[in-house]
Amino acid sequence: MKVFYDERMLEHRQDYFHPERKERIERSKEVLDENGIKTCKPKEFNEEIFRKVHDESYLNFLKNFRGYLTPDTLVRENTYEIAKISAFCSLSVGETLLKGENAFALNRPPGHHACRDHGGGFCYLNNIAITAYYLREKGMERIFILDWDGHHGNGTQEIFYDVNWVYYLSIHQKGIYPFTGYENETGEGEGKGFNRNIPVPYGTGDEEYLKIFDRIILKEIERYKPEVILISAGQDSHKNDPLVGLKLSTEAYGRFIRKLRDYPVGAILEGGYDIDSVAYSNLEIIKEMSI
Ligand SMILES: [Zn+2]
Repeated sequence: MKVFYDERMLEHRQDYFHPERKERIERSKEVLDENGIKTCKPKEFNEEIFRKVHDESYLNFLKNFRGYLTPDTLVRENTYEIAKISAFCSLSVGETLLKGENAFALNRPPGHHACRDHGGGFCYLNNIAITAYYLREKGMERIFILDWDGHHGNGTQEIFYDVNWVYYLSIHQKGIYPFTGYENETGEGEGKGFNRNIPVPYGTGDEEYLKIFDRIILKEIERYKPEVILISAGQDSHKNDPLVGLKLSTEAYGRFIRKLRDYPVGAILEGGYDIDSVAYSNLEIIKEMSI
């Protein structure tokens, strides 16, 4: 089990009072240290892989633009360089999975709202999508992406909507940002039947999530028979989160991982804005992934 982290990601800054702030990973790193869990620096990868996911014109735009991509997502001088390190953490998770070992990316900025040709929702590069393409290049043919962030991963859905080598399943709060992720969005062309959304109402908690895991998520995973499971691990589905109205406990995240024990698992951090809740939820995930 490996955890990838790089303190250069602390330098990424949105506006003052923005919820996506450095403490999200800084505190988590501190809690891992207190529990004797070591982290490693990500490797550098060839940026060519980003072009599998994003249009070249968008990547060039990100490198040169300064200002707001959307009202909640700011691009500064160092944004692209730091988003790159975040993607490298995620790619390092992919590389570790190829060696048959579980891994976790303690990274920011997050990625699952980044689409092929635009960013937004605090996201610039779609880390998990880049990692799926990397695994595909290394010969994998069936990759299951489980997105339990409280928000729908509209970027990831868009990128894999018409392919069957990725099965994208998202469970998220109904009716909040980015206002996508309905049940009838099931993929198209070859991808038909390989995209699944489970929108749940405000207030949904552990018991309901665990039922959905047993009745839907695990069945879909068994049916798809993935070589690997990548998790868009957004712990803003936690009950203390200030942005989302879901009610998961810290322990719930560990129980989810336990249910996926039969598969190699790589988790990549997405949202989660209550600093301590993210830190301890991450710890639960990492501990369960280490067993
Ligand atoms: Zn989120």
